[in-house]
Amino acid sequence: MNKKIMKKYKDMLLSQKKEIIDELIKDNEEYSDLKEENIGDMADAAYSAYEKDLIVGMSQKEQIMLEKINAALERIEQNEFGKCISCFSVIEDKRLDIMPYALKCIECQKKDEKNSFTAEVDSPT
Ligand SMILES: [Zn+2]
Repeated sequence: MNKKIMKKYKDMLLSQKKEIIDELIKDNEEYSDLKEENIGDMADAAYSAYEKDLIVGMSQKEQIMLEKINAALERIEQNEFGKCISCFSVIEDKRLDIMPYALKCIECQKKDEKNSFTAEVDSPT
């Protein structure tokens, strides 16, 4: 993947991350002392010192999303972004355009969903 395209996805990931953090700070008075300019700095780092504190106030869904975004940002740093972690094939651009944090290609994702569905059905709980 060329650097320009990689940069596009990085920007997408950073803005998604910023949205999560913005939303959290807006909803929680205890974070209100975090100023707007700090949020920009926070979003720029893959992991930041603030994040650990912020995660405590997040819903599980937000935490999972943030983890995915951080993982994708790390993969950009490692030049591994856009490759399926399961079969190592290139993830389609149109998939990354919707989910830049996708770790797997559509085929592997489908297999996973099928497997987890089967596991749920088989499980006694
Ligand atoms: Zn795959």
